Amino acid sequence: MALIVHKYGGTSMGSTERIRNVAKRVAKWHRAGHQMVVVPSAMSGETNRLLALAKEVAPEKPGTAYYRELDQLAATGEQASSALLAIALQAEGLEAVSFTGWQVPIRTNDAYTKARIESIDDARIQAELAAGKVVIITGFQGIDAAGNVTTLGRGGSDTSAVAVAAAIGAAECLIYTDVDGVYTTDPRIVPEARRLERISFEEMLEMASMGSKVLQIRSVEFAGKYRVPIRVLSSFTPWDIDLNEEARSGTLITFEDDESMEQAVVSGIAFNRDEAKITVLGVPDTPGIAYQILGAVADANVEVDVIIQNISKDGKTDFSFTVHRNDLAKTLDLLKTQVAPKLGAAEVVGDAKICKVSIVGIGMRSHVGVASRMFRCLSEEGINIQMISTSEIKTSVVIDEKYMELAVRALHREFDLDQPVDSLGNR
Ligand code: ASP
Ligand code: MG
Repeated sequence: MALIVHKYGGTSMGSTERIRNVAKRVAKWHRAGHQMVVVPSAMSGETNRLLALAKEVAPEKPGTAYYRELDQLAATGEQASSALLAIALQAEGLEAVSFTGWQVPIRTNDAYTKARIESIDDARIQAELAAGKVVIITGFQGIDAAGNVTTLGRGGSDTSAVAVAAAIGAAECLIYTDVDGVYTTDPRIVPEARRLERISFEEMLEMASMGSKVLQIRSVEFAGKYRVPIRVLSSFTPWDIDLNEEARSGTLITFEDDESMEQAVVSGIAFNRDEAKITVLGVPDTPGIAYQILGAVADANVEVDVIIQNISKDGKTDFSFTVHRNDLAKTLDLLKTQVAPKLGAAEVVGDAKICKVSIVGIGMRSHVGVASRMFRCLSEEGINIQMISTSEIKTSVVIDEKYMELAVRALHREFDLDQPVDSLGNR
């Protein structure tokens, strides 16, 4: 008997029939003696439909007034799916009650369309659980200090679920989705990719930040902060499969630093096609240059990822970094018109045809030569590396976009990720 949170994504809630299936699955868990809190997304396509309606009425006008209404609008998707699920559960003979973000309340800041959760009052949830009810809480939304409805950004229901799990002290947060777990890499690129039975929270954070779309990155950050165990699993198994089998399926994101278990050196390969590279050529190699370039970029609210500064020749150097592709034009313009003239830089060039490929693994902490094995593998494929960045458990390279799939496949093979892991974590 435990306190459990289930989160169901839009596809899992995609039709009334699927909602009835979700209800049957939740009822199975409830009948097994668990206290259940369920956080659903809107029915698939609904959030897109609502946001498109707004743009049909009037084009987006950046600013608080418009964004507030977008949140007011988009939050209805989850209100509807939550009520439907409560009705389906009642039809299963259970007592169920649904709450919106403001009814709980889930308090957030007022950054409309990308609000952050600040606190959750769990009194009402606990009272209903104590009364034997299944409690359903809308994903994706909350309320700010002034009483306005807010939303947490696309994919935000993951974060709602993990935050609720943290607030009520749930034993586990199960994220039911249309894939059956976290894979060594995207199976659409590498068919031999394997599902990981477990992955450490730190590895998951790296994978999520580098384009693995399974979980919203903020939900992983939340899980890390409050040490909420998350399991990603499929909602497409028959609802009546054995509960213990279901409870062990998918991928568990763990916090155990199990010293006795030999960690796989590399757990996964992530990639990201959303970045672009910018190089400022021929800047004087003097103190303050990085600050003058990147300070201006940061002031324009542009996030910078990989950075390199080359050694100087005749007192001049080249300075490169990557930004999101959507920010390329704006950043180039800023550098060309405002920064380069001040610095006396020779030229500013942009390249959108790049991608970032990363190997991720906790085992890298204790194994040497992992990065060089990556570089050798890429060189054997004739792939030129343009930039490199590393962290304790990750090595990333920036390469020409046209070699992305080749690089991911070669690295997957190089680190034997297509091989099963034995009980000691070895491949
Ligand atoms: N319904 C919202 C979206 O589509 C939130 C979610 O599904 O996680 O982004
Ligand atoms: Mg999602």
